Amino acid sequence: MGMERVDGAGGGPGPAALLGPTVGVDVGGTSIRGAVVTPSGDVVDTVTAPTPHSAPALEDGIARVVAELRERHEVHAVGLALAGFLDEHRRTVRFAPHLPWRDVAVGGLMQDRIGLPVVLEHDANAAALAEHRFGAASGARNAVVVAIGTGIGAALVQHGELYRGSFGVAPELGHLQVVPDGRPCACGKRGCWERSCSGTALVETALEFLASEAHPESSLARDVRSDRGALTGRRIAAAAHDGDPLARAVVDDFAQWLGVGLAFVADVFDPDVVVVSGGVAGSAPLFLDAAREICAAHATGAGHRPLARIRSTQLGDYAGLIGAAVAAHEQAGT
Ligand SMILES: [Zn+2]
Repeated sequence: MGMERVDGAGGGPGPAALLGPTVGVDVGGTSIRGAVVTPSGDVVDTVTAPTPHSAPALEDGIARVVAELRERHEVHAVGLALAGFLDEHRRTVRFAPHLPWRDVAVGGLMQDRIGLPVVLEHDANAAALAEHRFGAASGARNAVVVAIGTGIGAALVQHGELYRGSFGVAPELGHLQVVPDGRPCACGKRGCWERSCSGTALVETALEFLASEAHPESSLARDVRSDRGALTGRRIAAAAHDGDPLARAVVDDFAQWLGVGLAFVADVFDPDVVVVSGGVAGSAPLFLDAAREICAAHATGAGHRPLARIRSTQLGDYAGLIGAAVAAHEQAGT
């Protein structure tokens, strides 16, 4: 538990602003992170608990996090952000790979349990809502958020509203086939964007480069000799930052595929802002300029059209829980 404050950019007080703060909860595979968030996007209190493995224990855990925050703050609604497939009404969790719910009507169940309105939101959508209202996409007409971690999650905000597609699946960008003859993917295809542009891809590319060429001078080669499992995206980024040539080449490869994929995004959605978030965003200074150049060169009509500003997240790993609180707030205010 801790008191933290993340300043939002503020926003005009709509009708919902009169209702006061809401709770946003990021229900992740390892932790439940809850926060009280004001209508202007400020995080005023947080509570964190480990994620239990069974559904009843998970429901207890979320209820406890919310109850602890309600002891200190008056709130009027709760939003839950989670990685998984929701039904089109966003009341039922159909499948969440890192959580125990399978076709469970979590919205109604938690609402009865907590005694406040509860809304569910996909975590990438929640993050996009937060970035649009208070973060790197503030003021954007159309914004795409690309969250890059172990894979790629994506969300699209059009004229202030989340675009969900007809069945709540859009936009699924991680499995676009971006890389010709690229790596095989668990989805059954080959060359999916996230297989060459993710934290996981950084490690795979490093291992490929290490296997194909001798890089005795690279600190990564020494790491792999001592413990192959020690290689992580974060470690590679740190080595690239320190000027390690192999790590730099790995990051350049990542930047290349990020740029090519973002050119698809520019062609399909024509956004005015793209926000890169997720675990790799902390290393954005290493790759974002290169990705911007590659995107600009690959987008159709390059040089004759305005292109989206490509920015790094402003809200970091607070985006999901702020967005969950925003979803609760805006739904309660309508
Ligand atoms: Zn795939």
